[in-house]
Amino acid sequence: MNNSRFGLTDRLLVAGPCAAESLEQLRAVAFSLKDISVDWFRAGIWKPRTRPSSFEGVGEKGLEWLAEIRKEFGLKVCTEVASPYHVEQCLAYGLDALWIGARTTTNPFSVQDIADALHGVDIPLFVKNPLNPDLKLWIGAVERLSASCSDIHAVHRGFSLVDNGIYRQTPLWQLPVELKRLMPDLKILCDPSHIAGRRELVFPVAQKAMRLGFDGLMIEVHDNPDSAMTDSMQQLDISGFKRLLEELEISDTDEDRDDVSLEELRGRIDEIDLQLLSLLGKRMGLSEKVAAIKRDNNMSIFRLKRWEVLLNDRMERGERLKLNREFVKDLFELIHEQSMEVQDRFIEDTEKN
Ligand code: PEP
Ligand code: MN
Repeated sequence: MNNSRFGLTDRLLVAGPCAAESLEQLRAVAFSLKDISVDWFRAGIWKPRTRPSSFEGVGEKGLEWLAEIRKEFGLKVCTEVASPYHVEQCLAYGLDALWIGARTTTNPFSVQDIADALHGVDIPLFVKNPLNPDLKLWIGAVERLSASCSDIHAVHRGFSLVDNGIYRQTPLWQLPVELKRLMPDLKILCDPSHIAGRRELVFPVAQKAMRLGFDGLMIEVHDNPDSAMTDSMQQLDISGFKRLLEELEISDTDEDRDDVSLEELRGRIDEIDLQLLSLLGKRMGLSEKVAAIKRDNNMSIFRLKRWEVLLNDRMERGERLKLNREFVKDLFELIHEQSMEVQDRFIEDTEKN
């Protein structure tokens, strides 16, 4: 048990600045991280930036610095690669792991080029989710890279939506959860820094990831975040990072450890789910009856006024039952969509006969 890792002993921890800016900056961060014994020290040296006028990373000389950090502090070091050239350079400098950024995961051509460049190397990889919420693309990247590397971690860093609400990138937690269901052996880390986009939000996002049972965290830490050349708002300073580790509550993910009272509650939940399914079946049965009347009277399936009244009514009732308004809205949108589908299919089938 390593106390300096606080409660995170069985979770992976990747930490370091967004970008390598100078050897002194890397030394300052690494010096403070070595007694926390993070698993991997991260620093980007080729930075994917929206505009070419922004700081795009220090390039190859950052590899010399990372090799120096590895030697001086005994830390395993990693950086982002986006091309076979990057891979070749990183391997030449003996980096311990590589990460594939969100923009790269979005492009299967680039992922394949990187996988080919890694053939026969078998270095640990971190694969960020693509910018867009496309789970298959994320899985595809993991599959392509698995052909070359046996030690792959997925990194959930949020998704770029039109409206990201309070986040820089919307978490959409159901995507990494579904990834875990489909690939149960894949370790999934959360990168709360890029989801949060600002310092205050990093802790609650990291805490949520730990509560959900993620396998680890990748967090941006800078010795002086306000002067950082990239992602200044979201990087934690050293003391903020140590405080986060101290305060994080780590949940037990052992699925064999269960509780009798949990069993009892699960039994009741299963019972309610069965009732919900049976009610939904009945509801769709009524949709068919509605469809028959609409067909006979040549009425359109979608009735705007009825839909508006129904949706508002359900959202209000849901709220009175302390159900989240957006959840109730999403739920009834799904039910309504399915009901229209059932009506359409019914009319088509009965018209044919
Ligand atoms: C980063 O980790 O600094 C980075 C650029 O990440 P992402 O690819 O998730 O945006
Ligand atoms: Mn960053």
